[in-house]
Amino acid sequence: NTSLKDEDPVLYELVEKEKYRQFSGLELIASENFTSQAVMEANGTPLTNKYSEGLPGARYYGGNEYIDEIEKLCQTRALEAFHLDPEQWGVNVQPYSGSTANFAAFTALIQPFDRIMGLDLPSGGHLTHGYQTDKKKISASSIYFQSMPYQVDPKTGLIDYDRLEENAKLFRPQLLISGASAYPRDWDYARMRKIADNHSAYLMCDMAHYSGLVAACEQNNPFDYCDIVTTTTHKTLRGPRAGLIFFRRRPGEDKKTSIETRVNQAVFPSCQGGPHNNTIAAIAVALKQAASPEFAQYAKQVRANARALAARLISHGYTLATGGTDNHLVLWDLKPQGLTGSKIEKICDLVNITLNKNSISGDKSAVTPGGVRLGSSALTSRGFKEADFEQVADFLHEIVTLAGEIQASCGSKLLKDFLAAAEKNDKISDLQKRV
Ligand code: PLP
Repeated sequence: NTSLKDEDPVLYELVEKEKYRQFSGLELIASENFTSQAVMEANGTPLTNKYSEGLPGARYYGGNEYIDEIEKLCQTRALEAFHLDPEQWGVNVQPYSGSTANFAAFTALIQPFDRIMGLDLPSGGHLTHGYQTDKKKISASSIYFQSMPYQVDPKTGLIDYDRLEENAKLFRPQLLISGASAYPRDWDYARMRKIADNHSAYLMCDMAHYSGLVAACEQNNPFDYCDIVTTTTHKTLRGPRAGLIFFRRRPGEDKKTSIETRVNQAVFPSCQGGPHNNTIAAIAVALKQAASPEFAQYAKQVRANARALAARLISHGYTLATGGTDNHLVLWDLKPQGLTGSKIEKICDLVNITLNKNSISGDKSAVTPGGVRLGSSALTSRGFKEADFEQVADFLHEIVTLAGEIQASCGSKLLKDFLAAAEKNDKISDLQKRV
């Protein structure tokens, strides 16, 4: 029973450094958040010791009486957090992550080589929604299924539903996927349902990024229109790292071939082995929190903060994809400043602001994309309000201005030369202190 500190001081020290990094800087990565002490406690319990392949009441191992209770509690809370009637919706809480949840959902719904349509990665979609390039099938979802991604309109940055509808007529997908990783606007699920219905396709939503906002009724509700809804639990939902799959029950379904049976079997045994019971317990805690009035207030503030950040950047003269935001994220186009997202990501690291480079529709290269993605969920968890986000925008404005000066003076477009010049710049250390 030795503590981590005594047992493994090297690792302990690294964890302490990471903790300090997380709390001393400004965390703007849109997919990250600060989960609560209670969630972390549940995640660190002896539940991690237990094997429980199968489902509550039907396990392949003994000794699961408490694990069954925990998993059932998690299921109940998942349905409650998203205001779902258990007669109409069920949920599998075992996916290890968002990616495995998505692959299990595909495995449940469609056959190998069936046709899927998801938002293209350079348009803000996720890898697992069928990503491929002209040269290579990158994601397993494009290797095992045929993928024809849809795009945003390069002029407006908004999803081009008309073009999606036209392409769907040619491609006749069996599965249409809504939801994304870097799309700052809400979704028209009714329109997507119509397109899916034209081809008798399933409609899925991967609400990973904004599920916390859906729980708080701060976004359109994908459950009104979709057959299946997946999510991660660690982004706006503020839980541990994991995934969930919700499935719509169909009246009169044969149990053997029902969507419930297919989803459950796809998760185990098709895609996964033993559930991570400590994580499931931690999800249950996060879902209890997500159903609270405090969380509803948090979600409102997340959106208000993202809007304040966007408005201030615009007031500094910057270009944002779609011209603003409806959710927790802002997609900032730095091409008008002649800078790449990679340079801004690196220079921000130097001053303890964490964000990530991101493609903007029309970018030539995904390796050196023209923008960055910012999110308000993590700093809102730390109590930031609109005025704080305006200050964050002002810091970012200073950094981008400085980055422009450094790029102009270092006489090279290469990232490594830019970074070397930035590291030597006095204004960087001054900014770091102020941040
Ligand atoms: N789906 C979306 C929309 C995401 O943005 C992400 C991750 O960022 C995932 C799925 C994958 O989740 P994970 O990293 O837990 O596998």
